[in-house]
Amino acid sequence: MTSVDAPRRGRRQWRGVVEEYREWLPLLDGVPVVSLGEGGTPLVRSEWLSRVVDGEVWLKVEGDNPTGSFKDRGMTAAISAALRDNAEAVVCASTGNTSASMSAYAARAQLTPIVLVPHGRIAAGKMAQAVMHGASVIQVRGNFDDCLRLARELADGYPVSLVNSVNPIRLQGQKTAAFEVVDRLGGAPDVHVLPVGNAGNVSAYWLGYCEYAAAGMIDHRPQMWGFQAAGAAPLVSGVQVSHPDTVATAIRVGNPASWQLAVAAREESGGRIDAVSDEEIIAAQRELASRDGVFVEPASAAGAAGLVQLVARGEVRSGQQVVVTVTGHGLKDTDAALQGRQLVDRVVEPDLQAAAEAAGLR
Ligand SMILES: *Cc1c(COP(=O)(O)O)cnc(C)c1O
Repeated sequence: MTSVDAPRRGRRQWRGVVEEYREWLPLLDGVPVVSLGEGGTPLVRSEWLSRVVDGEVWLKVEGDNPTGSFKDRGMTAAISAALRDNAEAVVCASTGNTSASMSAYAARAQLTPIVLVPHGRIAAGKMAQAVMHGASVIQVRGNFDDCLRLARELADGYPVSLVNSVNPIRLQGQKTAAFEVVDRLGGAPDVHVLPVGNAGNVSAYWLGYCEYAAAGMIDHRPQMWGFQAAGAAPLVSGVQVSHPDTVATAIRVGNPASWQLAVAAREESGGRIDAVSDEEIIAAQRELASRDGVFVEPASAAGAAGLVQLVARGEVRSGQQVVVTVTGHGLKDTDAALQGRQLVDRVVEPDLQAAAEAAGLR
């Protein structure tokens, strides 16, 4: 007789996206994997957004990845390939989640992480990760494009692998998120919503859905709905933005690396790429945290913000199944989260009645 308390020995731990989806990643055939157990992130039903949409809305919570963003899915693939290629170091131009993720996986592989950061504001939370994982952080007197050019040149002239999203293997790792959605829901959703910066992620999801469809795993592909920040929306306007500006630093991109792929995903899926204001982003970030218990960084709320905006404009048909990817954890950028808010509501003496009153309890 089996006791309900018996340890479930047969239960294996999630092995990370490359091992879990090996047959879909022929590029990494036979390559030993550098993994932190990334992927396998929860799909959390959002009651709030389901009501707003008058349908069924699920959040794919990518902040639950090892370094707190979906970047880990691509990084396990990129760092594994770098190790195979006998790189001694890995480099990226980034002030954000790419550098955090690269540094963690590089540490694990005992490769030297090199982070090139442009002049200007640096988000402390994300850089703290790079620093802790042992990255050489080099500030360049120039902008992001200068950093990316330097990174490419380092990769060309030294035993260094470039892991920015111009490295196509990252999209291979990232497409596994679409597989997980389908495997969990038992089919493709009607609509997949997500934030768009360099547009690698929207392209990777589309790739994943297309591969599953081609293999007969799903009978339809979702519409892809991407949302950029209004101050950094080149895919909406169709022209590069020379000075992108938004509170959502992870999507502050004026010239997306995967521009063509993202346009193809929009066209082929019958989807859309629209813009949301910083105010809409901040409002959605707060709703996600206070209604769903899911704390995301500002960029990660752009998809939810876009969905709310389209419902308000009467452009969302009711009764649909919608997946919204929330891309990174809120703890990455507490400065942004606390902007204009106070940490402490009331100060009281250590007294029961005073505490109860202050808390509004009766
Ligand atoms: C990188 C990132 C994005 C943007 O993804 P792209 O692939 O560049 O479009 C959005 N949110 C977070 C949290 C990110 O780290």
